[in-house]
Amino acid sequence: MNREKISLEMETKLRARKQELLVRIKREMRKNISAENRRDLGSGQEECDCANASQSDYMHFLNMSSQHVIMKQIERALRKIGEGSYGLCERCGDEIGINRLRILPVAVYCRDCQEELEDRREIPYRIGRNKIMAFCS
Ligand SMILES: [Zn+2]
Repeated sequence: MNREKISLEMETKLRARKQELLVRIKREMRKNISAENRRDLGSGQEECDCANASQSDYMHFLNMSSQHVIMKQIERALRKIGEGSYGLCERCGDEIGINRLRILPVAVYCRDCQEELEDRREIPYRIGRNKIMAFCS
């Protein structure tokens, strides 16, 4: 399978994923806005409600920021497809294996480079199977 075919296959995948993510982000934003409205309306609430609210704000923030990280990566991959550099490792220039791209269409490093960078902690998190697997672990 050549790189052009792979790019085409991945472009379809990435566009679908981007669409899905946009829908989710919009839904999350709407949910957050209505939660905020409820909070503004409900005066004299108990302390534990406030604690819960800030906890869910924090979770919401984490969720949104990871979605934005993924969105940025999808856009970067799509840009690379447009430029014709998709599927090439940004570090060593080798082709990234098709199996790796199928699992992780937004991969920018080949497996060797990825592992080396992770060992050296030059990249703070690993993006795996459509989600962030670990923050700075
Ligand atoms: Zn490499």
